[in-house]
Amino acid sequence: MGGKTGINLDGYKNLVGAFSEPVATVISTTFFNTLQPQELLSGYAEMIKHALLSGPQDLSLVLRYDLTAPDYDPDELLELLRKSVGVKADIVAKDPHEKGLRKALNLGHTIGHAFESLALARKSPIPHGYAVAAGLVAETVLSSMMEGFDSQLLHTPAQYIHNLYPPFAFTCDDYPTLLRYMAQDKKNDKPDQINFTLLRAPGAPVINVTAPPAQITAALDVYRDLMGL
Ligand SMILES: [Zn+2]
Repeated sequence: MGGKTGINLDGYKNLVGAFSEPVATVISTTFFNTLQPQELLSGYAEMIKHALLSGPQDLSLVLRYDLTAPDYDPDELLELLRKSVGVKADIVAKDPHEKGLRKALNLGHTIGHAFESLALARKSPIPHGYAVAAGLVAETVLSSMMEGFDSQLLHTPAQYIHNLYPPFAFTCDDYPTLLRYMAQDKKNDKPDQINFTLLRAPGAPVINVTAPPAQITAALDVYRDLMGL
């Protein structure tokens, strides 16, 4: 869905990529039964991202649903998924080749990819979505520091993610490595400049925000606090 493809190179996530639209996208809850809970949760992190990009209503729906509950309703999940895919489809239709608006879809991914790369370097890889879930928490914190995202509103998604996803553990000794991974990210136009998609509010993304390292590490501190690390 969306046509972006990528491969990892030299230990960096998605360093080489191309745009190629699928002929069709088929979504069926039947296949959910074939997935481990970890895979479902991993995908759900992207749905939390889409909900943050969409607005408060979609966000509260997504954060009310618990797909780890033994009696989770696949039909309700399908409805949430339909909405979620719609959010992405709308953004991709307006900017298929990521000239501008589509960068909104990178929310959570600058820090998320750095977590994923660090986990890979530690030889204990984590699912992409787990890294994104952690990245979303850290980047909403950064959003409140830099873009005025209401700090009261970041607790609900942070709590939800804390409850369902294993926190990504690191210490301040890892900050230089994490910053290096972020600086290497293909989303940056200039070397050593770390760019983010942040949020002014749920549904109000801001693209191409360059964050100074001190702000990023402050956000990482708060992430560790929120996750009890
Ligand atoms: Zn992703």
